[in-house]
Amino acid sequence: MYHNIGIPPQGAKLRSLYVTPRMFRFQMWYLKHAGFQVAPLADVVDFSKKTGFFGNASGKAKKKQKRLISLTFDDGFLDFYENAFPVLKKYGYPATVFVVSGLAGRENLWDAHLGVSKKLMDWEKIRTLRENGITIGAHTRTHPKLSSLPPEDVKKEVHGSMAEIEEHTGEAADFFCYPYGDFNDSTVREVKKAGFLGAVSVARGFVSRGDDPFTLKRIPVRLNTWPLSFIYKLHSDYEAKKGRQLEKGGA
Ligand SMILES: [Zn+2]
Repeated sequence: MYHNIGIPPQGAKLRSLYVTPRMFRFQMWYLKHAGFQVAPLADVVDFSKKTGFFGNASGKAKKKQKRLISLTFDDGFLDFYENAFPVLKKYGYPATVFVVSGLAGRENLWDAHLGVSKKLMDWEKIRTLRENGITIGAHTRTHPKLSSLPPEDVKKEVHGSMAEIEEHTGEAADFFCYPYGDFNDSTVREVKKAGFLGAVSVARGFVSRGDDPFTLKRIPVRLNTWPLSFIYKLHSDYEAKKGRQLEKGGA
């Protein structure tokens, strides 16, 4: 789970959401050289839906599944287009960008109370991404906390984001991302009703076979994710443990 790819401006709030272009290049390089298979989110969703044990899968096939990685970028910031897209293109990596459909070409107005203003991609750029193998996912129309909205507004945010993406890109969005990782049962129901095939949360950990495809876990990559911690996140059960801790703590 990425947000901004760029150098955080001096005194910027929400600095931890940035990953510097240099670190990002390292991380993409590492995935390739460590033998990870960077796959579209659709593949991870398919994997989550598999149930039971593949008793007869060969060791090799199991190892391959273990090395499946999907890259997601929340909010659709302009810095994705400028700093991440060229690197992804170079490696031929697929990725999913979750855009806030009502604010394309504008700014992250949902953070206005923090005095943080960052540019979001316009539809032309979003269309260019789509034409270049980037999956466009939905992240609502205006980035609200969905669980605190009345049902009719949840509908507008969820179904509306699907409709706007289809209108501007010519293609329906398959995947949804809950703003702030916030959802409840009725939010999830609405996301399914709108026709999405899966959704990502901010719960931490790897995706396992049998996981709910509408509340997929992710692994955050942040400003302080130094090379060693990036590698540690990928190769150890650190993220799974962290996820369980946070769950217990009620976070
Ligand atoms: Zn967001």
